[in-house]
Amino acid sequence: MEVKEQLKSLKPYEPGKPIEQVKEQFGLTKVIKLASNENPYGCSDKVKQAIQEELESLAIYPDGYSAELRKQVAKHVGVKENQLIFGNGSDNIIQILSRSLLSEGFNTVMASPSFSQYRHNAVIENAEIREIELVDGRHNLDKMADSIDSKTKIVWLCNPNNPTGVYISEEELINFLNKVPKDVLVVSDEAYYEYVTAEDYPNSVALLDQFPNLLILRTFSKAYGLAALRVGYGIGNEELIRLIEPAREPFNTNRLGQKAAIAALNDQTFIETCKKLNREGLKQYYDFCEQFGLEYFPSQTNFILIDFQRDADELFQKLLEKGFIVRSGKALGFPTSLRITVGTEEENEALIQTLRELL
Ligand code: PMP
Repeated sequence: MEVKEQLKSLKPYEPGKPIEQVKEQFGLTKVIKLASNENPYGCSDKVKQAIQEELESLAIYPDGYSAELRKQVAKHVGVKENQLIFGNGSDNIIQILSRSLLSEGFNTVMASPSFSQYRHNAVIENAEIREIELVDGRHNLDKMADSIDSKTKIVWLCNPNNPTGVYISEEELINFLNKVPKDVLVVSDEAYYEYVTAEDYPNSVALLDQFPNLLILRTFSKAYGLAALRVGYGIGNEELIRLIEPAREPFNTNRLGQKAAIAALNDQTFIETCKKLNREGLKQYYDFCEQFGLEYFPSQTNFILIDFQRDADELFQKLLEKGFIVRSGKALGFPTSLRITVGTEEENEALIQTLRELL
């Protein structure tokens, strides 16, 4: 059997090692995972109750239109219901957009290093990929704008950027959008939106009227703590949403996910608490970096990329043996850095203590 040629260059997704596996491998009783930018406080208690009630209906297909969730998200974000598209995580929206817009003979522009799925899906669609190197962890927006031509279909902005945690300001975004032709889609991936504290971070939803070629991605996987239930969404212009909807599978958000997301959305106190604790957690890492003279990118997310000036895989392995799963920067384009998810105060302290001993 011959699969598409371009698939041969892609490796299957390699998830971080599961906690149980690391325990067994190194004979550990406790393992702390700070690798996938999950919420260390889990999700709102209200979610658990909502899901419990939904367990009675598992034999019934979910609402393919996510009508109730749609209503609530529209209200929360301040857009019309038909300005939303829901996905099995925002990964799924990236896939839907790529499937809808990309193909051979066309190109897509993205920063590098950035979130891997933009590139991955572009390869599958056989589109030309134009990767523009970050400068000091930031998108090089001038160069990205310059690389757009008549064959460009999608420009990906990861804001804040994974893996650097650095953000694009409102002024920078507007300047950029003004340079992009209106028939080129600009995706603003705001997966870490709820963690952002920077005052000049864009209010991108307010820009949708002026820039109908803008599409915003958000997710319930990060601050809302629902990564397992896979709910993400896109916010855009009605016409654009209508055009891409047919590329969405009929039941791509599940029953538990929809209920959980509604309950999570209705507990903004939980989000505020997590956001505050995340800021304090980041401060623990900033203090540690400053003590040890380590370079890092100030982060607007729940992770931090720290340059340890040594082989990232080796340091990753040493931490693994001591019961900490983090993300080596090697595969992320930063070979001497680790990407560490901000955990609870105790988790951060335990990791920092271990790092102190290892450095
Ligand atoms: N975008 C970015 C920038 C991310 O970091 C992630 C998660 N790693 C995603 C999208 C996908 O998240 P999900 O599919 O869980 O919504």
